[in-house]
Amino acid sequence: MKIIEADRLKALPPYLFAEIDRKKADLAAKGVDIISLGVGDPDLPTPPHIVERLKEASQNPVNHRYPSYEGMPSFRKSAADWCRKRFGVDLDQGTEVVSLIGSKEGIAHLPLAFVNPGDVVLCPDPAYPVYEIGTLFAGGETHIMPLKEENGFLPDLDAIPGDILPRAKLMFLNYPNNPTSACTTLDFFQRVVDFARDNGIIVCHDAAYTEVYYDDEAPVSFLQAQGAMEVGVEFHSLSKTYNMTGWRIGFAYGNSDVVAGLGRIKTNIDSGIFQAVQEAGIEALTGSQEPVAELRKTYQGRRDLACESLTGMGFTCLVPKATFYMWVNTPEGVGSADFVSRVLTETGVVLTPGNGFGQHGEGYFRISLTVDEERLAEALSRMERLQW
Ligand SMILES: *Cc1c(COP(=O)(O)O)cnc(C)c1O
Repeated sequence: MKIIEADRLKALPPYLFAEIDRKKADLAAKGVDIISLGVGDPDLPTPPHIVERLKEASQNPVNHRYPSYEGMPSFRKSAADWCRKRFGVDLDQGTEVVSLIGSKEGIAHLPLAFVNPGDVVLCPDPAYPVYEIGTLFAGGETHIMPLKEENGFLPDLDAIPGDILPRAKLMFLNYPNNPTSACTTLDFFQRVVDFARDNGIIVCHDAAYTEVYYDDEAPVSFLQAQGAMEVGVEFHSLSKTYNMTGWRIGFAYGNSDVVAGLGRIKTNIDSGIFQAVQEAGIEALTGSQEPVAELRKTYQGRRDLACESLTGMGFTCLVPKATFYMWVNTPEGVGSADFVSRVLTETGVVLTPGNGFGQHGEGYFRISLTVDEERLAEALSRMERLQW
């Protein structure tokens, strides 16, 4: 029997990293010492008190049964308390918070609740690919909002065409931003709220990196803007804040109708997060935040090292105020794919080509600061030897 895939799989954008993966495997087979600055996955371990809490909670039989899809009341309370303390945002944990099996899960599922075939979803470009793919899986169409350097990598809301607006149902945003590392202001979020209200657009703000910031300048939440609760939700993740990418835990909060819609999709698809992991999540959100301060210091040291070295090589880039990424211009006349491919072949250093995040990422590459300073310095010194 011939197995034929559905059109939605055929419609997926091409996988741009196939060639890099192949090259990487070739080099590894030859014994080349590969340094990966490619993936956005913290190299540091989860803080020990969180791991301890999982150990204890995993031994309690109460936690061995099906969890509730929306999350334990105690987890949602911890999430709401955290938002109040961090952002000054008041949430009803019963109706305005839902737990997620990682924020990627919520982002991918949300369009299923609100997008009909033919509806338009406004997606930034370059961006985390899940916004576009969640849209395609729901049968929606994406309209790209280019993130340009001259606009501080913020979308130009006035540039969205008048014929698109009546069909637009959702808008995705992400600040601090992956891949550009750009941050935003409350003032911009206020303009987004007014724009969304005027045009009947639900705003989904991906806030995965609000805690990975530098120089003591804590990023803002979308929900701090006036009226934001009327128009949207924010996605938060424990993945980057507490080095918990493998644990799969996050939460969405904000407008109760949006939270409820997402919840209805989830009840019909998954059965929530292992309760012992939720207990560990409570520990993360309510326990000592000292490890988060340590993590910021660690990344800041790496950022400073990489900025100095790259600038010395003649590259230009934004000095990140948040995230563990650096978004760097490729040399004049060298495309993203060619640049990354040559660096990999000649130095064994893996970078991510900017166009892997969308067409407007062309002309950039992304460095992920998720290796220790010694390896980072080694990677940079190998790159320094290349002439462009
Ligand atoms: C890492 C990341 C997430 C978080 O994903 P989880 O599913 O919570 O691990 C979300 N958005 C962006 C932009 C990310 O880079």
